[in-house]
Amino acid sequence: MTPNTDRNETLFERARRIIPGGVNSPVRAFRAVGGTPRFVQRAQGSCFWDANGKRYIDYIGSWGPMILGHGHPAVLEAVQKAVMDGFSYGAPTEREIELAEEIASLLPSVEMVRLVSSGTEAAMSAIRLARGATGRSKIIKFEGCYHGHADALLVKAGSGLATFGNPTSAGVPPEVVLHTLVLEYNNIAQLEEAFAVHGAELACLMIEPIAGNMNFVRAQVPFMKRCRELCTQHGALLVFDEVMTGFRVALGGAQGVYARAIPGFAPDLSVLGKVIGGGMPLAAFGGPRSVMEQLAPLGPVYQAGTLSGNPVATACGLATLKEIRKTGFFDKLALSTRTLVDGLKAAAAENGVPFSADCEGGMFGFFLLPQLPENYSRVMTSDGARFNRLFHGLLDRGVYIAPALYEAGFVSSAHSPSDIAETISAAKEVFATLA
Ligand SMILES: *Cc1c(COP(=O)(O)O)cnc(C)c1O
Repeated sequence: MTPNTDRNETLFERARRIIPGGVNSPVRAFRAVGGTPRFVQRAQGSCFWDANGKRYIDYIGSWGPMILGHGHPAVLEAVQKAVMDGFSYGAPTEREIELAEEIASLLPSVEMVRLVSSGTEAAMSAIRLARGATGRSKIIKFEGCYHGHADALLVKAGSGLATFGNPTSAGVPPEVVLHTLVLEYNNIAQLEEAFAVHGAELACLMIEPIAGNMNFVRAQVPFMKRCRELCTQHGALLVFDEVMTGFRVALGGAQGVYARAIPGFAPDLSVLGKVIGGGMPLAAFGGPRSVMEQLAPLGPVYQAGTLSGNPVATACGLATLKEIRKTGFFDKLALSTRTLVDGLKAAAAENGVPFSADCEGGMFGFFLLPQLPENYSRVMTSDGARFNRLFHGLLDRGVYIAPALYEAGFVSSAHSPSDIAETISAAKEVFATLA
């Protein structure tokens, strides 16, 4: 028998013997698209190399954090310096204050910040805080939005309009999601009905303002305006899950984008992650002083973490934020993203492939649909088999996009015009095979 020379395959076989599914987060396993996951050996700038030494232009960027690309010199230097001073202390540091101040200075809605280690933890804690601060139990989330894997958030819509949801994972007791109401994204009538029935019991409404976990779907402006109005009217907190969009779609996050369209607009609480850690495990949630002061040790809402505000992670996050706040950073990033999206659209049109795409800042999404979908069920009408052929065609040509059609894509400042051009010409070849 000849030995297998594909190192991705041998690693995957070995991984599957010891790690469930061979991966530590499900989408990495390529279950949706088929084939063997690429094991990454190293990354630099806009690219990473797999276990066979094959190079890929990287459009997942660790699912969002790597907005400067891989191995940015200023970030490397900050991290190396921090490491020399110790990995973790379990006692406060100056850098935690600096990072919290930096976040508050970039997001006007945030007066106080608590640092944690993952987006899941931040979203879960924000909900506990909203419940503690309002003394209410019920929450609203939207179908297709992902807020991490806390029990109460692993829910899909129930059978009828404004009924409570069903767990989407085994191991979540129905009682745990009893207070979670799941509504359709961008559906104002359903939103109004939910508030009419449950308004007085609602602690918060949590939303991905530009949803990146059903590919890329924007909350329409009138819908977002109604979310804000109804929360205010009923005393529920509007919680923006900006784990993906924060410091990614604009320096001021998606809340900045909506504030341009809706005068005076701001969420109550913000949940952050991904970019603020620059690739290290770091996340945060923040909001008004009056609400945040409900947290322990000041208030009755308990929340804690051994590695929260980790000194290496905060160094990485601070160095990343310092780069992205430089003048013109987002204009340039948005231009690269826009060039990519327009090029893909043109390439699809040339080959008669139904295609729609959208982007904001350094985040994009595309669909093999003639029109942009406005909610999860529309997203799911996308042609999965065709997407898989597109995915593998691009992968073969050294372009790595998310291995599932319900995930957004990310461009970094390290992506050069020639990376974008190479991607578009690879896409052209693949579209020709799809037509
Ligand atoms: C990634 C993500 C999370 C979860 O963050 P983790 O760090 O993976 O726990 C939560 N909300 C949104 C919008 C995300 O994109």
